[in-house]
Amino acid sequence: MIEGSLDLAEKNRVPVSIYLDNQATTPTDPRVTEAMLPYFTEKFGNPHSADHAYGWDAEDAVERARAQVAELIGAEPREIIFTSGATESNNLAIKGAARFHKDRKPHVVTCVTEHKCVLESVRRLEREGHRVTFVPVLADGLIDLAALADAVDEETSVVSVMAANNEIGVLQPIDEIAAICHEKGAYFHCDAAQAVGKIPLSVRETQIDLLSISAHKVYGPMGIGALFVRRRPRVRLEAEIDGGGQERGLRSGTLPTPLCVGFGEAARIAHAEMEEERARVEVLTERLHSSLLASIPGIHLNGHPGQRLSGNLNLSFEGVDAATLLRAVPELCLSTGSACTSASVEPSYVLQALGLDADLARGSLRVGVGRFNTEVEIDQAVILLAKAVSRIREEKQG
Ligand SMILES: *Cc1c(COP(=O)(O)O)cnc(C)c1O
Repeated sequence: MIEGSLDLAEKNRVPVSIYLDNQATTPTDPRVTEAMLPYFTEKFGNPHSADHAYGWDAEDAVERARAQVAELIGAEPREIIFTSGATESNNLAIKGAARFHKDRKPHVVTCVTEHKCVLESVRRLEREGHRVTFVPVLADGLIDLAALADAVDEETSVVSVMAANNEIGVLQPIDEIAAICHEKGAYFHCDAAQAVGKIPLSVRETQIDLLSISAHKVYGPMGIGALFVRRRPRVRLEAEIDGGGQERGLRSGTLPTPLCVGFGEAARIAHAEMEEERARVEVLTERLHSSLLASIPGIHLNGHPGQRLSGNLNLSFEGVDAATLLRAVPELCLSTGSACTSASVEPSYVLQALGLDADLARGSLRVGVGRFNTEVEIDQAVILLAKAVSRIREEKQG
């Protein structure tokens, strides 16, 4: 089957672009763009203008969006603080909580495989004199719960662990993490940028105190996100941005009405279609994975095989450098997950934390299947990858 379609693909070689990098960003859903448009034009009011209809209309739209985002994670609308994205939400949650509580609780805990914006926020706190602990992960990418339990103590202000990893897709055991935090009186902050809208997640069921969301990871616009801040019992934070006192004083500045509306619509769609979409993405991802395994020897799946986002595959190809492979398949939009520093290509710190040897880490590709991918695209991707991998391996030998 692969052979026949390979010939067909050769003959019909057209410059296509297949987007399989949905962990980096997701395309904006056309329904989202549609909902946003009027708020750039006729409904342009400042949502904080309380004196006229333009302001009231914009405020209504923002509050509707806030309720839609809240509903997606089982929160109350008043617990949603709009920000510019998950980077800002993570900064506000971690630095805000740590700085507010520094006198009595000068300790912060996170995990080695967190997103850079979490790790760098924690490192900044360390420079400011906080005690910090980076908890390791096991070989499957799941956090070492015993090490976490050892790390958290009565002096811990906040523990930050993500729900789903952006590189390897593993789902961290957030219920167990929440229990460990609360036993010691620490806040549990969860970076859920990859998980929200993809898996059912409730801040009440899991008892999350602070949760970060990014709109552009759930088919919404770039430049907006949210931080859930629990109200009862109240979670106390120090603001990062001071000004007019918007967003409960935690995030001053005029809210971008069109972006809020787009985020709200994206949240509404994700909530309404989550189960159906999850099943469809899972079928496509499974098809991709099994076809690749059937046509290419020496493939490793990085991260826990079962406890992962349904659209994510992080694969290492023995003897193949991921950057070389990507250059050989310009039709495919995938990510190597490695960070290029000035001279060399460093293997990803996430894969290194799993204990993957440097060669396999350099051979790893992140595949992110999403809402708009089709079976035809998946099959095409398999053909292209299979051909490129065998050619690269042959060239290496010859
Ligand atoms: C994308 C992402 C972020 C950053 O989100 P932005 O909205 O782009 O700032 C943070 N954490 C994780 C896990 C992400 O995937």
